[in-house]
Amino acid sequence: MAEIIDGKALRNKILADLKSEIEKYEKKPFLAVIIVGNDPASKIYVANKKKTALELGFESVVIEMPENVPEIELLKKINELNADKNVNAILVQLPLPPHIDTEKVIESVLPQKDVDCFHPLNTGKIAQNARPFVYPCTPKGIITMLNEYKIPISGKNAVVIGRSNIVGRPLAAMLTNLDATVTICHSKTRNLKEITRNADILISAAGSLGLVSADMVKKGAVVIDVGMNRNENGKLAGDVDFEAVKEAASFITPVPGGVGPMTICTLMTNTYELFKLQNNL
Ligand code: NAD
Repeated sequence: MAEIIDGKALRNKILADLKSEIEKYEKKPFLAVIIVGNDPASKIYVANKKKTALELGFESVVIEMPENVPEIELLKKINELNADKNVNAILVQLPLPPHIDTEKVIESVLPQKDVDCFHPLNTGKIAQNARPFVYPCTPKGIITMLNEYKIPISGKNAVVIGRSNIVGRPLAAMLTNLDATVTICHSKTRNLKEITRNADILISAAGSLGLVSADMVKKGAVVIDVGMNRNENGKLAGDVDFEAVKEAASFITPVPGGVGPMTICTLMTNTYELFKLQNNL
């Protein structure tokens, strides 16, 4: 029976440490978030980010722009934040409406303030095993959990399901940099089960309810569930069949209470890191 990795408890511990650390500074880390449009999920994420930042004693602002905002207005706002010495971290909530060129927007954020690590300079650094200004929130949160639970990565077979720019791709690169042997799977992968059964560390970031069943997991594997789906009762659930898989795994993350809390926690530690870098602290 697997040990359950408690993302909530770890988040609470890291944020409590961060809060007391912040108290020693007169000037506080400043996180600016831009949201375009009215997507209900995005609105909830953004509200949570601001709330967590303020609870820590950070400065934070949410800039709301209408769904039909011209791209140039959004780029102007980003430039203003880039130039504002008080703002340490900039996050543009994705997805953006279709008339806006997301790539252009991502590239317009100053890499030194790119708190999500979406800018190609930062992701390129990860691909080269060099140091970005900060690492992307969800992958970094996962590595933090593995470290906290003293789960070895070097030399292990890691399988990542999903190849998005937000989770799968950077996570696979980071695990490679930590000396794992990494396989990336995606929607065109054939014989997924054959591949996942080889995994010492199996990470699912597909967004597909119940994708990972017990017969896909090697005995003793570490299983990390990034997926956030709604089950038939409308409740939040992951990609992994938790009840069945926990019998075979050595460690497993629940949904909710696993990767999710670590993502927002890492956003805060990233904001703090950018604050320190910009203030030579
Ligand atoms: P995405 O849709 O951009 O990418 C999903 C990836 O999974 C794609 O590469 C796709 O090829 C692959 N995939 C989908 N179905 C598959 C299948 N049946 N077999 C193999 N591969 C498959 O999604 P994303 O932004 O990377 O997010 C993935 C999931 O993680 C979503 O449920 C999202 O809500 C969740 N998420 C959670 C957090 C968190 O903090 N907990 C953060 C980001 C994303």
